[in-house]
Amino acid sequence: MELNICHLYPDVLNLYGDRGNVMCMRKRLEWRGIDAKITRMGLGSPVSLAPYDLVFIGGGQDFEQQVLLDDLHRGRDREIKAAIDDGVAFLTVCGGYQMLGSYYETYDGKRCDFIGALDLYTLGAKKRMIGNYKFKLGESSGGSVVVGFENHSGRTFLGSGLEPLGRVLSGYGNNGEDGTEGARYKNVFGTYSHGPILPKNPELCDHILLCALKRKYGTAELAPLDDGAEYAAHEEICTRL
Ligand code: GLN
Repeated sequence: MELNICHLYPDVLNLYGDRGNVMCMRKRLEWRGIDAKITRMGLGSPVSLAPYDLVFIGGGQDFEQQVLLDDLHRGRDREIKAAIDDGVAFLTVCGGYQMLGSYYETYDGKRCDFIGALDLYTLGAKKRMIGNYKFKLGESSGGSVVVGFENHSGRTFLGSGLEPLGRVLSGYGNNGEDGTEGARYKNVFGTYSHGPILPKNPELCDHILLCALKRKYGTAELAPLDDGAEYAAHEEICTRL
């Protein structure tokens, strides 16, 4: 078995160790004897997502989000939407998560028109939402408690039909108001969690990998791993909260 993983915009969207998510996915596949082929696709790279089973997009500052708009709207937006419709697994973090929504209006009034693949929009506020936080995943995402680190000015609001990824237990999440964190649609997992999120939340990592493997092979199982170090990191953040 093999997964083709696309790391989209590693050159402009990579805050707080986000690329550690790709390393984590690859290691957890390899430890089970499953090959992982990683392709980094930066600004100006081919737009086709046809070869990929899983796409990762990290976070970025408002400036970088504006820089990538031209590249996004030269057909990559349509490719991303088609891949999502086709059930390709996506993990998107903060700026990359906002990018799947309709738009982001920064606190100083600049508007980024994004791709509208998910029914959400984001409004910047002067006060940033910063800190370690935790949330409980919805049952469709495995139901475990996730710890992460958030740092965003954008407040994201979900359309009424869009399921959040989870419910905030401590911290801000999507907007600091309605208790929602992230978004879950088809095989898309959108979150505000940097850190990176996956190494200290191994159940979520395996859940996403299984979505991609099942779509590709019809059925798939992941053998248990010794996650002692991962859970120790998880617990450490929980005690700080
Ligand atoms: N620039 C966006 C915001 O502040 C995203 C930040 C991020 O990716 N951490 O909301």
